[in-house]
Parts: sequence; C-alpha cells; structure tokens
Amino acid sequence: MTAKYRLMVPGPTPMSPEVTAAAVRPLVDERTPEYSAVFTRILDNLRQVLLTENTVLLFTSSMTGAFEGAVQNLLSPGDHVLVATNGVYGERWVELCRAFGLRVTEVSAPWGQAVDMAEVGRALAEHSDITAAIAVHCETSTGVVNDIRAFARVAAGVLTIVDSASGLGACELRTDEWGLDVVVAGGQKALMTPPGVAFASVSGRAWQYHEKATLPRFYFDWTQTREAHERDVAHTPWTPAITLLNQLDAALVQLLDEGLERVLRRHVRLGRMTRAGVRAMGLEIFGSNDDRAASVTAVRVPAELDGEALIRRIFTEHGVQLVGGPGLLAGQVLRIGHCGYVDAFDVLSALAALELSLAATGYPVAVGEGVAAALRSFHEGQA
Ligand SMILES: *Cc1c(COP(=O)(O)O)cnc(C)c1O
Repeated sequence: MTAKYRLMVPGPTPMSPEVTAAAVRPLVDERTPEYSAVFTRILDNLRQVLLTENTVLLFTSSMTGAFEGAVQNLLSPGDHVLVATNGVYGERWVELCRAFGLRVTEVSAPWGQAVDMAEVGRALAEHSDITAAIAVHCETSTGVVNDIRAFARVAAGVLTIVDSASGLGACELRTDEWGLDVVVAGGQKALMTPPGVAFASVSGRAWQYHEKATLPRFYFDWTQTREAHERDVAHTPWTPAITLLNQLDAALVQLLDEGLERVLRRHVRLGRMTRAGVRAMGLEIFGSNDDRAASVTAVRVPAELDGEALIRRIFTEHGVQLVGGPGLLAGQVLRIGHCGYVDAFDVLSALAALELSLAATGYPVAVGEGVAAALRSFHEGQA
C-alpha cells in the first residue's frame, strides 16, 4: 500500500465524510425556496460562528476576493488606512490597499512576533486622518495570532477590518463583544470546506462607510449582495458556487453540533500538543509558545537541512503533506496545519512522520520523543 494521504496544511484542510458527501447532492435552482432555506441557514450559522448579529455577506471567490470587496465597498481613492503586519498576509493587505490608490501606514512587527497593538494606537493618534485599520487575526505564514481584542480597543475610533481567514473557527474571535466592524474569512481553513467561498460580516458603522465609499465595484458590490440576501427568497446577486455552499452548510452544522467553545478548546489543545512535540524533538517553534496559536504551527528548519526537501521527503515517505514558509520564510520553516477537521491522532501522525524523516536525513533526533511529548500534552489537557 502506498502511504495514506494526510493533509496537514493550514488550508486547504481535510474534509469530513459529511462535507465530502454534500458535494454530490443534486444541484437545485438557486432562486427557489428550497435553496433559500439552505442559504439562510448558512448565513445564520456563520453569524453564530462569528458571534455577531451584523449582516453577513457571502461571495463565491477565494478569500482575497472578499478582501478586495471590503476595500472597494468601504473606502475611497486617497483614503488613509493603517495595516498591522507581521507576515505574508498582512503584506497582501498593504499591496491590495495600494493597488486601489489608498495611502497606507504600516505598523509592523518582525515575522514570528505579534503586532504590538499599543504601537497601532500610537500610530492612529499620530495620523488623525486615518479612517480604517486592518489587522490579520492568525498570520498563517508564521502561526502567530494577533491580539484582536486589543486591536479593537486601540482602533475603536476608526473602522476596524479583520482578516480571520485561518483564525475563525480555531482561535477565539468575538465580533460583537470586541466591536469589530468587518470580519472577512472563508471556507478553506478551520471551516473545513473546499476553497472558493468567502464572506464578510458588516457592522452598522461599516454600512455608513459604505454609503460614502466611491471606489469602483461591481461583482463584490455590498448593496447588491445585501439586497439579494434579504429578499424573501434569499439568494446571491450572481450564480453562487452551489456545491461549495452545500458543503459549507454541512461543515457549519457539524461545527455547531460540536459546539463553538468546544471546537476552540480542541484547537488550543492541538496547538499545545504540536508545540510540545516539536520542542521535544529539539526543534524550535518559529513564533511564540502561546496558546493563542491554535491554528497552525511554524517550525524553524535546522540550518543544516533543506526545508523544502524535508517536506517533500515527509510526503513521499509517509504521505503527510506539510507546507513550507511562504515569501521570505521559504526553506526556513515548515508549517503543520491543525485547523478544521483535525484531531489529536492526525497531529501525532504528522509528528511521527516528521521524526522519522528527520532521522532518515541523519539529523540527531530520538525517534518517538516528539510523539510521546505530544501525547502526554494531549493526555494532560484531557485531565
Ligand atoms: C489562507 C489565508 C488567506 C486566503 O486567501 P485566498 O485568497 O483564499 O487564497 C488569506 N489570509 C490569511 C491570513 C490566510 O490564512
């Protein structure tokens, strides 16, 4: 038998049997009450996962499409925005804002560290013309999770936009309690759905910004989207990815069945056990040993090893798919995704494969120590 395929990257993430089965439901006309019931349930369930009573808008696109839509629908050419960055995804927001002619002030932290939200507060005080602040919840390139509650507090005077792509459903995010205006995310991380659907929650204050925003928009127009969502037979302005929405529906039902708080606790434990395992192998975590980092763990590849070759070896020998560092971190880190439909035994498999492949390269690792430490961490978490 060839190695069993195990997808352990922070998106796309593995599908449960229920989500897989939802892909073969017969297509229905999306302008019917039958479909509308599914669609409305998705919106309601997304509100439960986002912990919000705000409007939720759904889009057929990867998440970057919904990010672009947020910029188009909230801002005008020449507007001054702040972007908090500490990795690849923060940088993406900077590029996106610049592409639309916005002025950007960046508050950055070194990759592998969280953004200092006090610094965000100081930058906002210094530039009184900034109208919106953007932060990434889980910076997937390094696994570092920013303190979004603190972000919301220091940026309360401006519009807050949060990219919770790999955070939502894995790391705590309280949209209304924390006062976040716009949260943008999508299906293919902790929400256990194939890539291609994205969404945004929009507060009352954000709708006021929308009224005044003059950037051109069409496909992602929030007014059109909201009107379609709020019709008696709720739908989308354009043809949605019906199959993916059926899968998102199944995934959300499954998530809420487990219970949001339990899902978040499971992720905290998976993060903890991953870090314990990696450290017991004598490897270093890229980022901090922090319970907030519940979605993905970045591991520093020992300097004498070729990170990409190691990841390839782990896959070809053991069928476990990990991923390297994007951007500047290529070759320097390997990342283990543990968000979504993932349990302790998946993490143990990934750690076992990592240990075996390290040993096969001649790296001095006592095979089994990492797995044992992870298993102990899991066991203690259960007590
Ligand atoms: C995965 C991820 C995205 C995904 O963007 P796509 O357009 O769906 O590829 C965006 N931001 C963060 C922080 C992510 O982790």
